[in-house]
Amino acid sequence: MEVVATNGQIIKGKPVADKISENLINEVNELVKEGINPKLTIVRVGSRGDDLAYERGALKRCETIGIQTEVLELKEDITQEEYINELTKLNNDKNVHGILCFRPLPKQLNEEEIKYVISPEKDVDSFSPINTAKVMEGDTTGFPPCTPTAVVEILKHYDVNLNGAKVAVLGRSMVVGKPAAMLLLNENATVTICHSRTKDLANVTSEADVLVAAVGRAKMVKADFVKQGAVVIDVGINVDEDGKLCGDVDTNAVVEKASMITPVPAGVGSVTTSILAKHVVKACKLQNNK
Ligand code: NAP
Repeated sequence: MEVVATNGQIIKGKPVADKISENLINEVNELVKEGINPKLTIVRVGSRGDDLAYERGALKRCETIGIQTEVLELKEDITQEEYINELTKLNNDKNVHGILCFRPLPKQLNEEEIKYVISPEKDVDSFSPINTAKVMEGDTTGFPPCTPTAVVEILKHYDVNLNGAKVAVLGRSMVVGKPAAMLLLNENATVTICHSRTKDLANVTSEADVLVAAVGRAKMVKADFVKQGAVVIDVGINVDEDGKLCGDVDTNAVVEKASMITPVPAGVGSVTTSILAKHVVKACKLQNNK
């Protein structure tokens, strides 16, 4: 897609998500013709609002594409042994190709043990350390986490040249910041990772051609954080002082300075579920030697 980089262009997630879905529908049709039905199982403990919102989006996306889904709803006080038993059953179920375990898990569960239990071949959102390692190695047979992958897909869709570009990633969590930095490095960007201890933060980020914000602080990124003409990807999902959903970027303050900027909502979040669906189809194909 040819994009003219005029300042202030809001780049939405929907066209990216639709394009991915379109391709997946064809791939799923081919699999179904061969008697293979890709299936995702979501493992949810209790009913946290965040989990339910993501679950609704994921189920809808999978349904549109023709991927079968199931939600395994586990009781809030489930024990470590019970959780591991349930996960092992899914690992061994040949009809399930992708498993998404909602995290964080409740306190009584030891995530450090559980992450080694999920089958890396079915681990569609990079819970297993095997998939984390594959991101580090640039091994594309694995499953990087869906949100940072969505960031890269958006940049590619809007023809942002990452080769040699200066990229600043704001945030270093295992869910977003670190893997986003690695995936962008794999695209040959020159990546700087910033965090709460970074000195002169705005000076560092304002050097970047591409700024990825994943801090979880409502509207923290102001115009002085952004280089004139930079591309800004806002991963944050926060609530502002008026109780409205907003990102980590103060969009109104930044929009005229940036060449392109993703909105919140309707930006990165809307691409994440299509990446999840893409991973389920990939897992299904790998498990069927396709
Ligand atoms: P997190 O685990 O809380 O990590 C936040 C990161 O930001 C940390 O590395 C932290 O630095 C850094 N940070 C916090 N305050 C800072 C400050 N004042 N200056 C500089 N750095 C600061 O959050 P997360 O899980 O990565 O999520 C980040 C945001 O993305 C949240 O708003 C979350 O809701 C959103 N999110 C969106 C999606 C999606 O699909 N769109 C998916 C997942 C998450 P330290 O490491 O030094 O503490």
